[in-house]
Amino acid sequence: MYDYLIVGSGLFGAVFAYEMTGRGRRCLVIDRRSHIGGNCYTELVEGINVHKYGAHIFHTSDREIWDYVNRFAEFNNYINSPVAIYGDELYNLPFNMNTFSKMWGVKTPSEAKAKIAEQLAGLNITKPENLEEQALSLVGPDVYEKLIKGYTEKQWGRKCSELPAFIIKRLPLRFTYDNNYFTDRFQGIPIGGYTQIFEKLLKGTELRLDTDYSALKNEKIAKKTVFTGCIDEFFEYGLGRLEYRSVRFENEILDTDNFQGNAVVNYTSADIPYTRIIEHKHFEFGTQRSTVISREYSAEWCSGAEPYYPINDGRNTALYSEYAKLAGSRRDVIFGGRLGMYRYFDMDKVIRAALDAVEAEMKQRME
Ligand code: UDP
Repeated sequence: MYDYLIVGSGLFGAVFAYEMTGRGRRCLVIDRRSHIGGNCYTELVEGINVHKYGAHIFHTSDREIWDYVNRFAEFNNYINSPVAIYGDELYNLPFNMNTFSKMWGVKTPSEAKAKIAEQLAGLNITKPENLEEQALSLVGPDVYEKLIKGYTEKQWGRKCSELPAFIIKRLPLRFTYDNNYFTDRFQGIPIGGYTQIFEKLLKGTELRLDTDYSALKNEKIAKKTVFTGCIDEFFEYGLGRLEYRSVRFENEILDTDNFQGNAVVNYTSADIPYTRIIEHKHFEFGTQRSTVISREYSAEWCSGAEPYYPINDGRNTALYSEYAKLAGSRRDVIFGGRLGMYRYFDMDKVIRAALDAVEAEMKQRME
């Protein structure tokens, strides 16, 4: 009998397993894929660590979490500074003085602010109700039309006016010449890829790959289950289906040492079908002779595809809260991660949530 059956070897499951195995608990980790690491998994291709399920850039302001991940890999000093291509124009992201200078020919913060104020005049948005209104009221129509609308509608497959405002708040707006996408204190990419982190986290824990939860769920093999798959799947869609966004990648190995000069290039116009191109070598300042690129296409999730993003619109949020009530009544199951908690989590927040879950478990056992 195991103490914990942990379904999914992504960040939540692997951190939980590491902590509990370290406390002498018997854990079994299963994953339906043939590898560990969930969507953080990286794979060596042509000597380059390829982020197989999309770019993962570690960033956090939580020193404890930064110290924690640094125990499992050495992180480099990569700073994410994507550029956006709209037609034949190229802009720096996030929205900063470089972006405004290119867009309007302004040089100083006060000129940029005056330009934005001019753009906002006549919009009359007092309380932004959705992503479109939020974006328009922050940066005005020029930036919205060129850098936000097309990209966002491709990524989410929904109109900006139907999406929640908070999504765009992930993107900073600043009046300095600073292209650092994140405002967090700590940032980097693990030198040698993410997979090593999971190998170390799972060392000493029993692991079964290519194993679906459905094969084990009726066998009482553990006192508790930690479930990091889709919460609606766990409850066999009893209350209806939650929606997810999926991503499809077209990978190419190219016989050039530098294809686009940057790890991340966003394509923000609606007429280019992909949202971005990732050139993986630049995450680790690679000097290989060739390069690997991934064109990223966003798609509605359907059975058989990989779910990536929860969709936090009104319908899904309401449905999730019903599932969360069901989850709350199951004292034998802990739900975790982006899919188990249906939350647009960054990696640091997932680790924090897993550590919190461990602490809650330990407290419960003491009571
Ligand atoms: N976004 C945008 N234009 C860009 C990049 C991002 O409008 O060039 C918006 C878009 O709405 C997106 C959100 O910012 O959904 C968050 O983007 P982020 O890059 O953080 O998404 P992730 O890396 O998590 O896919």
